[in-house]
Amino acid sequence: KGQLIVVGTGISVAGQMTLAAKSHIENADIVFMGIMNKVGEHAVKNLNPNSISLDDLYQEGKSRAVTYDQMADRIVQAVSDGHKVCVAFYGHPGVFVTPSHEAIRRVRELGLNAQMLPGVSAEDCLIADLGIDPSRFGCQSYEATQFLFRDYRIDPYMTQIIWQIGLAGEASLSVLDATHNQPGLVMLADILREHYPDNHELIIYEAATLPICEPKIQKILLSELTLAKLTLISTLVVPSLGLPEYRQDRLAKLGLTEQQVI
Ligand code: SAH
Repeated sequence: KGQLIVVGTGISVAGQMTLAAKSHIENADIVFMGIMNKVGEHAVKNLNPNSISLDDLYQEGKSRAVTYDQMADRIVQAVSDGHKVCVAFYGHPGVFVTPSHEAIRRVRELGLNAQMLPGVSAEDCLIADLGIDPSRFGCQSYEATQFLFRDYRIDPYMTQIIWQIGLAGEASLSVLDATHNQPGLVMLADILREHYPDNHELIIYEAATLPICEPKIQKILLSELTLAKLTLISTLVVPSLGLPEYRQDRLAKLGLTEQQVI
């Protein structure tokens, strides 16, 4: 009977794969890879020679929604053929990854077993490299194009993490490089300017994908954001303006004062 296990390989190709993920890769009949990185693919192939990349499904001009659907099709087909299938995505396989959740949903619908294991995501690396604890100010995390087009409530007192900043405003999701994003980036900067001063310092972050490399941490003023050099793995961090004021009414209801609260 077929089964599906979805694992993450981490961001750095060495050392960030959990022991459980490694063992599932080794013991699978087939491994599908969504790793976007030749060195990372090589590491997985070393664990299991029957590893097949999903990256051939990405094509310039093809909507990424279609690509993700085809990835899920390929995975579900192999499971329903009776194989023990492992799918390895880079980072955490459930963080900003559509086909992983979709494949699990469809396999369970067929009455077969499907499970996801957690992995080390770009956000995990970001927390470590930038020293930002999401609990300090609270944290809002979204995809850049959704950030532009949806009526979100942005709270500038929280840390903002904006993913896929290199593709901001790519409505069709059919572009594969980060060099055509100018109108999207201009709009994104305008939205941020509604909440932050021009001289607010932002961070464009790229975690190291190779063990000997350093992360790229580019600090840039909001007023200069549109000049930023972005890639497909850039993540934008907008630091908090600070902690918000206390809600005196709520403290009072519990008979507390600011001094009594840490
Ligand atoms: N599953 C991945 C995220 C995939 S979505 C994870 O767990 O991290 C792709 C987005 O993730 C990119 O547009 C970027 O915002 C972020 N990302 C991927 N690799 C990154 C890296 N090396 N450094 C910083 N952000 C990265």
